[in-house]
Amino acid sequence: MFIGECSILAADQVRKIQCRRSAGYAPDQISVVVITHMHGDHIGGLMECGAPAFKNARYVAGQAEFDFWKDQARVGTPAEGGHKGIMKNAVPLADKMIFIGDGAEVVPGIISMAAFGHSPGHMVFKIGSEGKGLVLTADTANHFVLSLQRPDWEVRSDMAKAAASAKKVFDMVATDRLPFVGYHMPFPAVGFIEKQDQGYRFVPETYQFEI
Ligand SMILES: [Zn+2]
Repeated sequence: MFIGECSILAADQVRKIQCRRSAGYAPDQISVVVITHMHGDHIGGLMECGAPAFKNARYVAGQAEFDFWKDQARVGTPAEGGHKGIMKNAVPLADKMIFIGDGAEVVPGIISMAAFGHSPGHMVFKIGSEGKGLVLTADTANHFVLSLQRPDWEVRSDMAKAAASAKKVFDMVATDRLPFVGYHMPFPAVGFIEKQDQGYRFVPETYQFEI
């Protein structure tokens, strides 16, 4: 059906749509899209064939993140690619976006936390329901070993304050013994963080024992 609507759907877009369907939701049922930051691999699926992929959704995004990438001052700098990406995939949705900062309640049970650095307005989210909670750390860690064991190390795409934000987030997750989901963690990307030596250690929550 989706292929019929758009003849230029790329193979990865078809996979994304299949993925959403296998999660039990059709794209039209998505009512809120929460954006942790606006690197291309996080907003590239918002628009498909020039139209919103989730046509009934509103969007929640960090104000600092949107403002940085949208700014024309990025043209001619290493951030120009990111600027082009947001102009194509996020700016068309701007009038459906709610812009937030640190400590905003996205919906009941989901609270934003500023973790600027991986990108200028990178946000993580505390998610709670019925007395349980986890933290969506997004791209705070770029690698499940290096980023945790050496939180002072930053990768090329990290920007100012990335190490300080990483330590703040890892320390909260470790100290409060919270489960977390990180985008660059090994499948299924859920686990805990323990303090060790000068940094931290990823403790995966393996799924095999649950099935
Ligand atoms: Zn990123």
